[in-house]
Amino acid sequence: MTASEAGGSGGSRDVRAVIFDWGGTITPWHTVDLAEQWHAFARAYHVDDSGLALALAEAALAAEDAGWKRGRSDNSSARIEEIIAEAGIAVGDPRTTAALAAYRAFWEPHTWTDPHIKPLWEGLRDRGIRVGVLSNTIWTRDYHRDVFARDGVLHLVDADVYSSETPWVKPSPEIFLHAAQQVGVEPAACVYVGDRSYEDVHGPQSVGMRAIWVPHSDIPEDQQVSVEVTPDAVAHELIDVLAIVDGWLGEGQPGDEASTSR
Ligand SMILES: [Mg+2]
Repeated sequence: MTASEAGGSGGSRDVRAVIFDWGGTITPWHTVDLAEQWHAFARAYHVDDSGLALALAEAALAAEDAGWKRGRSDNSSARIEEIIAEAGIAVGDPRTTAALAAYRAFWEPHTWTDPHIKPLWEGLRDRGIRVGVLSNTIWTRDYHRDVFARDGVLHLVDADVYSSETPWVKPSPEIFLHAAQQVGVEPAACVYVGDRSYEDVHGPQSVGMRAIWVPHSDIPEDQQVSVEVTPDAVAHELIDVLAIVDGWLGEGQPGDEASTSR
């Protein structure tokens, strides 16, 4: 299959970087009770007062929800420190440290790296292709890097961009251009891999990247933005990204099973 037969904005362009979304892409999709993360936080903060804990959890959830909604309307990013401050909590308070530890413990089962990622990233690097991460997140770089280090893949990341460290969220063109700059490859030679059509297909294509969609996530309707897009390829298994990229590099073998038909 030639790149042009793969559809989308293919062609004979080189692939020199592949940049990945995090939640639902590098991590398998989990449906997470987003209220419960803040109940865990608040119970650890107000250990002796369940009424105050309930009020804090509701305030933090509302602040986080408002942050994500802003992101979907004006592409602005948010940070966990701002969310807990909006909920009336001081960041330096020892109780806040304990509460953040409880929050992380809540998230821990949902942060594990997909087992396909290590062989996929090694395969890309074997081909001389750089590996990037670009995540819409309220968490810090250190938090994300701790997760990658725990799972033995941090050394395979050439560049990582977290929206919490920028003014933007996906799908803003600015954040994709920033990610391309960080990975050191012009957008036309970058491929983006993600699970959301608005953020992860429309976004990268708007700056000239190719987009591979991972269609696994059961994304809540209130988080979806309706958009008509066609990914350049679909990876039903993450490891299929290798065969898709090989096809674009002109090195694919006839009979590849990876879908490149969308
Ligand atoms: Mg995602």
